[in-house]
Amino acid sequence: MQCPVCEKEDVFNLIETWKEYKLYHCRKCDVVFSHPMKNPGSEWYEESELYILGKTLCDTTISWHHDQFIHDGKVFGDSLLDVGCGNGVFMKEAQKLGYKVVGIDFDKENIRIAREQFGLNEVFSITLENLIDSYPNKKFDVITFFEVLEHMDSPNNFIKLIKTGLKPGGYIALSVPNRERFLDPLGDGDYPPNHLTRWNASSISSFLEKRGFEIIKVTTKKLTTDDLIGYIKTKIRFRIAHKLILKGKTHNDQAIIHRAATLMKIKDTALKLVTIPLAPILSLLKLQGGGLYCLARLKPVVTLSKEKGNL
Ligand SMILES: [Zn+2]
Repeated sequence: MQCPVCEKEDVFNLIETWKEYKLYHCRKCDVVFSHPMKNPGSEWYEESELYILGKTLCDTTISWHHDQFIHDGKVFGDSLLDVGCGNGVFMKEAQKLGYKVVGIDFDKENIRIAREQFGLNEVFSITLENLIDSYPNKKFDVITFFEVLEHMDSPNNFIKLIKTGLKPGGYIALSVPNRERFLDPLGDGDYPPNHLTRWNASSISSFLEKRGFEIIKVTTKKLTTDDLIGYIKTKIRFRIAHKLILKGKTHNDQAIIHRAATLMKIKDTALKLVTIPLAPILSLLKLQGGGLYCLARLKPVVTLSKEKGNL
């Protein structure tokens, strides 16, 4: 067996067995990976309960990782491609900064929302490979991929594709779940076949540096009430919503799924109210939250031999 990231053999520690999967930590590149390591395909995601709820809730708020890119208002060129753009909420904010934005997502329903709700035109339900094949001369100043890398069954091939679509000296911004978080708000969602790799600040930095990038910023989210709410939700399963979703899926009844989503929203609001008084205490504790963000720049290639060394 080979590490899917550094490709070394026999340098792993088995850390956990989960259903038919084993999770290994590679001592060479410090990445945790699943074995077997296979992306389940778009149908699996479309059938997943969490995914259906997320889409039904149609969350249009900016996430922590989006805000890391948007907040300081720096602009790194004209064009930005968002891989795994979801409903387009980040693209809309990037557009406000002046970027000409293009987005891709496997889910046609997300693309419809991006077009109709956010008025985005350059959004497509195609793979990164297809986009690059269709526009071989198109190169972007910035490529973003938030909460995407951990789903990839070949992080190396994915980064190669990203580099193909990036201008020399172009920027990437990405996020992955921080495996060193104090509380786990992801539960089953952090296991295969959903998440196939797990990262911390040092493993993501070294992964990108070895592939020709210069790290501009790598940062982890501080533990806040959001993490606490996520953690409570994984511990207290919402049985009523769960049953409603199953019923809605069985009868293909959108009204039932919407009812489940409303129940989830009520639960979230209640949890927010309950956890507000804990916010100052959590801030004092300075513990790590669930997010890991990285901004990096593709180093200009000096010689052909150097590029070969960069995978
Ligand atoms: Zn490795």
